[in-house]
Amino acid sequence: MGLSELLKLKEKYSDLPFEAIVKTDLLRLGVAFSPTALKVCSEAKPKSYFIFSFNQVPQSELSALEQKSAPEEIALMGGPHDFKRTIVSVRMNPKSPYQIGMGTKTATLQLSYNNEEICSVLLPPFPSYYSSSLANGKPITDIAPTIEWGYLIYLTAFRLCQYWGAEEECQFCDINNNYREQKEMGRPYTGVKTPEEILEALTIINEKDIEKTSHAYTITGGSITRRLNGMNESEFYSQYARAIEKKFPGRWMGKAVVQALPLDEVKLLKDSGYQIYHPNFEVWDKKLFTQLCPGKDRYVGRDEWIQRIVDAAKIFGPENVIPNFVGGIEMSKPYGFQNLDDAIASTAEGLEFFMSQGICPRFTVWCVEPGTTLTQSNPEPPPLEYYLRLLQVYRDIFQKHRLPIPPGYGEAGLGKAVFSVSAFMDVLPEASLLTHHDRPA
Ligand code: SF4
Repeated sequence: MGLSELLKLKEKYSDLPFEAIVKTDLLRLGVAFSPTALKVCSEAKPKSYFIFSFNQVPQSELSALEQKSAPEEIALMGGPHDFKRTIVSVRMNPKSPYQIGMGTKTATLQLSYNNEEICSVLLPPFPSYYSSSLANGKPITDIAPTIEWGYLIYLTAFRLCQYWGAEEECQFCDINNNYREQKEMGRPYTGVKTPEEILEALTIINEKDIEKTSHAYTITGGSITRRLNGMNESEFYSQYARAIEKKFPGRWMGKAVVQALPLDEVKLLKDSGYQIYHPNFEVWDKKLFTQLCPGKDRYVGRDEWIQRIVDAAKIFGPENVIPNFVGGIEMSKPYGFQNLDDAIASTAEGLEFFMSQGICPRFTVWCVEPGTTLTQSNPEPPPLEYYLRLLQVYRDIFQKHRLPIPPGYGEAGLGKAVFSVSAFMDVLPEASLLTHHDRPA
């Protein structure tokens, strides 16, 4: 596809900002960097591999400079289309039609699409706390990296998943493969973080993040189907919020990204101090859930999973239950929908189901990572138009139900959103535009 075809999509989807279209395509296809641009990037905040690889090639196919200097995120800005600041997570793909190089007219970085200029690129500043280490020598970037332009401290407490192998792992997920890859590269990459390590890292951030850029923390990791350090999943993940809230009461908004758990375990999470609960449902269609999430299907089952999400609203409040789905896997080969209309209709049904009950899902753009089961059968990601229709349908159902902006993501709206792995926050109206009457009772 040339730039002219991208511009045709801009016209066809004129109700979506062009920034959101380019952001989505960048997440879908990944981005390449010129060596000179990477030298500039080496001064910025590096990619931390905070849970998955979020790359489209294995580390072995990246140069030493790409491995070391890829930034965590970029911000699109200005240029011939006058972009408002739009933050995008970096997914490395040396063969992407999107390339970041040095601008011809200025010394700033520039994003081009098949050699045609799109916009300027800003880099995330290197945080003051990023060169710190814990007393045990572990770098803070291993224990407590930050994403979303510094808004979110991302604490993957358990970097593996007990759903193991092709029969159990979600077919789109590279958590276990990423862990293996990071260890093979010799990077400091802690498999199970202790509450003490996390508290020490947060103490450093609290002292050095003088401008209070960080507003929330996520505690997450792989599923625990048996026990980990003698604890079940809710006991394991609740120990972190309990420790954090005891030492730093209310300093950050605590979010738990874990499985859809039985009600007593959800209550334990809430009582430990989490404010937001993310029991991700990944994909709405029943058959696809079974095929793409075989472990979750076998241990919990799709209907029970959905029921637990709905039940969790009684504990957390519906607006604080935010289940994620991986946008695009409903079109993955070989099981997914063959055409766009069917895929959108299925996801819209799921959105309607949750949003009509005040529960607002969110989505990420599927990154087809090497080392996952779906990689072989999906050399190409789903079409860009699928994602653009998804943004439209998401925004429209959200507005139909007059939902509040999901908490824990910072501000919504073009030029303000910081959520970097999909454009859902970029296309929602700014909170200030919602009137009192727009809010649900
Ligand atoms: S439950 Fe699935 S998506 Fe979550 S970490 Fe395990 S394999 Fe990955």
